[in-house]
Amino acid sequence: MSKVLVTGGSGYLATQLIAALLREGREVRATVRSTAAREAGLRAAVRRGGADDAGLEVVAADLMADDGWPAALAGCDEVHHVASPIPATRPEDPDELIVPAREGVLRVLRAARDAGARRTVLTSSFAAIGYTPKPDADYTEDDWTDPDTPGLAPYPRSKAIAERAAWDLMEREGGGLELVVVNPTFILGPTLTTDLRMSAQLVKSMLDGTLSVLPRQYFGVADVRDVADLHLRAMAAPDAAGRRFLALADGPTMSFRDVAETLRRRLGGWAARVPTREAPGEEPRRPVIHNDRARKELGWTPRPAETTIVEAAESLRDLGLLAPMA
Ligand code: NAP
Repeated sequence: MSKVLVTGGSGYLATQLIAALLREGREVRATVRSTAAREAGLRAAVRRGGADDAGLEVVAADLMADDGWPAALAGCDEVHHVASPIPATRPEDPDELIVPAREGVLRVLRAARDAGARRTVLTSSFAAIGYTPKPDADYTEDDWTDPDTPGLAPYPRSKAIAERAAWDLMEREGGGLELVVVNPTFILGPTLTTDLRMSAQLVKSMLDGTLSVLPRQYFGVADVRDVADLHLRAMAAPDAAGRRFLALADGPTMSFRDVAETLRRRLGGWAARVPTREAPGEEPRRPVIHNDRARKELGWTPRPAETTIVEAAESLRDLGLLAPMA
């Protein structure tokens, strides 16, 4: 069986995906921007995920440069394109996100096509689906975020533009390559990497009490392990080619208040610093996001959001990543 390529191997989602592939006995090649900075942490993360890293090869490739991509793709039939910049803070220049996201997806798809790969599964986002307001706030895979929506933040803009660019490239010059897109809502759940990024940082900031006021906002939650599983199903199902699949946990969308209440109710004393105060303002509408397509077409069975939130917190505690209690 040929190797599987996973881009952005060092990240929160990719480490879970690589661990799942290795546990299935697949040979995996992962790209990172810098092997010196990331390879050791990536290997430790996948071992933490119960996988043997002997089947893992780590190579360097940056979304902003052509170098390394043809070699990364050589001998790979299946590609999971996960890498995309996620900012810790909103960048001044939206192109800091848009250019690597769009150019990166085009580079990876062209290299996959040229290497004769069978299929690429791209991690897009709910940000490419539901960030243009709709009166009924009810979202399926038929919806698209319009990148020109007034006030749209750079990150959702980058994801909408990158996913569009991917489908456009496939239509124009896809060759024999197939594309499937996975659109996760906010990803939570246990972290394997100790280098915390946006999603795990949010839970940490609630548990450490550094987030003192809860924003009034609703969002979908998807478990990082379930999103990894959806990637595997999207790669395996013959009829998935050309489709997008929303990823949302079992249950409704949640507010920051719901997440905070879940942490306090389920974790007791060590969730004592989780904030209770909400930002002033009107209660926004709770969106409805549908995950029936992934359930019906791919047999995907997501966990309840509550499990995801609690196990995200427990993983931070177990890895010693929370600030000590005073
Ligand atoms: P993450 O931990 O920040 O992972 C992002 C990865 O992209 C990192 O490995 C990063 O590499 C890599 N990357 C960023 N810029 C790059 C560049 N110029 N060249 C090469 N690699 C680059 O975030 P994540 O949550 O796992 O996100 C994975 C994917 O899921 C992304 O496509 C994201 O948009 C999507 N997604 C995430 C969420 C969420 O809530 N977290 C929700 C929906 C969709 P370095 O290690 O070198 O920084």
